[in-house]
Amino acid sequence: MVTFGPTHPPGRSLVVRMPVTGRVPSIMVFTRDLRIHDNPALVAVWRESAPPVTLFVLDDGLLNMPRSPTNRLKFLADSLRDLDHSLRTLGGQLLVRRGDWDVEVMAAATEVGASTIHLSNDHSSFASTRLQRLELNARRHGLRIQRHNGVSVVPPEILQPTGGGGYKVFTPYFRRWSSDRWRTIEPPPPPVQDPVSKVGPPRLVEAGDFLEGLTIPTPGLSINGGETAGRQRLFEWLDHGLERYGTARDRPGDDQTSRLSPYLHFGCLSPLEVAVAAAEHPEGGEFLRQLAWRDFFLQVLAHRPDTSWRDFRYRGDTWDQDPEAFRAWSEGLTGYPLVDAGMRQLVAEGFMHNRLRMVTASFLVKDLYLDWRLGAKHFMEHLVDGDVASNQLGWQWVAGTGTDASPHRVLNPIRQSERFDPEGAYIRRWLPELASVTGSVVHDPPDDLRRACSYPSKIVDHHEAIARFKALRAG
Ligand SMILES: Cc1cc2nc3c(=O)[nH]c(=O)nc-3n(C[C@H](O)[C@H](O)[C@H](O)COP(=O)(O)OP(=O)(O)OC[C@H]3O[C@@H](n4cnc5c(N)ncnc54)[C@H](O)[C@@H]3O)c2cc1C
Repeated sequence: MVTFGPTHPPGRSLVVRMPVTGRVPSIMVFTRDLRIHDNPALVAVWRESAPPVTLFVLDDGLLNMPRSPTNRLKFLADSLRDLDHSLRTLGGQLLVRRGDWDVEVMAAATEVGASTIHLSNDHSSFASTRLQRLELNARRHGLRIQRHNGVSVVPPEILQPTGGGGYKVFTPYFRRWSSDRWRTIEPPPPPVQDPVSKVGPPRLVEAGDFLEGLTIPTPGLSINGGETAGRQRLFEWLDHGLERYGTARDRPGDDQTSRLSPYLHFGCLSPLEVAVAAAEHPEGGEFLRQLAWRDFFLQVLAHRPDTSWRDFRYRGDTWDQDPEAFRAWSEGLTGYPLVDAGMRQLVAEGFMHNRLRMVTASFLVKDLYLDWRLGAKHFMEHLVDGDVASNQLGWQWVAGTGTDASPHRVLNPIRQSERFDPEGAYIRRWLPELASVTGSVVHDPPDDLRRACSYPSKIVDHHEAIARFKALRAG
């Protein structure tokens, strides 16, 4: 549970320091663009009123969720601290409010007398609904909202197939995406001579004061959020990781992927800057393709915001209700070692390798015939990179209700294990019960070995389960 320290109780005005003198023409609201490099909204507001009032609103909707995603909140808090520090080196500062996002943004703009609010455009139904509410409210008060690109390499509305409506298939999208002329990368705004007076108007709180009162328990989370940490990871990855990516990315035991996803999700890194760096790297092709998947899913969601929770293509499923099976899956106790290892990594690290996301998702949907939404929700509760577009549409891709051209594809968890974790390194890392099991039996231990290791029997027979799934889907 997330708590606020005694000096910052929720729902009350927090730290108040000096008011900004006079009116400012514009303010900027950070959302999923927590960086000073290549941030078009920040560049625009800086041009109009340097140093500007820059704001982040901690949405109560997120904090009050029954199972708040503490891993992401911790990463967010790190990122806000780092952003505040970076803005201060430029002569600005980050101010923070907490409450209903659109209400608080409007209140802040009104308090400083701004006539324009700059922000990055976003595309989930949650983001676009609150943006629409803000625009409606702003119009009533004669304020202008200016949306900028910043959360994707190519904005969703730019690439359209003949006939419009957004791309539904990745390969033609990727072809257009790769050949498109991308916008120019923006440098950070120039430092100002006369820094901000270190104060916000009433109820605008300095980020440091605000975050000091926020306690977020995240045992086991080792990753630090923020643009500084993200850029460090990016440059190390470009120098030492990317060249092996094409051959090693699918082997979870090698752990050879970039782990840049949380930095991309929160915009600590500019997706454009990462993509340009990959495009300029001689071995960057495969990595660039993965980045394009992120943009692809975002544009699918922009055209079909309902697919955050509804099937992109309805397949007539009447899913089983089996809380025990769901519990076994979520706790990593299905009796399929690769599936269980993935689920344990998720809970321990707030991260799961992409191959495992596919294998564990396929198991939930196709072997257990449970609704993909249950699995997507569980992932969102734990993933530091939890992202509505990539997660919900990644789940649907696996479930066969999304954009996958082969909706009946099945991943056999034992064959996947033998193929992608041939030495069993990943399984042994995450399943202490099987850590001392030698040889290939680790992929599917015999019954007596399972008993000796206190490792569970399989909760379903894969072949029987898949035969049932196919029959149900057929109709
Ligand atoms: C069921 C399921 C759920 C997923 N949920 C999420 C999620 O919530 N958030 C998320 O960022 N990714 C999600 N993915 C995509 C992918 O698994 C992660 O982006 C990747 O594992 C992150 O690790 P990395 O940064 O080391 O990836 P790398 O292999 O280093 O890839 C680089 C970047 O490309 C993007 N990327 C790579 N693969 C994909 C993909 N299949 N779809 C979209 N973007 C991709 C990510 O931004 C990633 O950081 C999901 C995939 C599946 C199958």
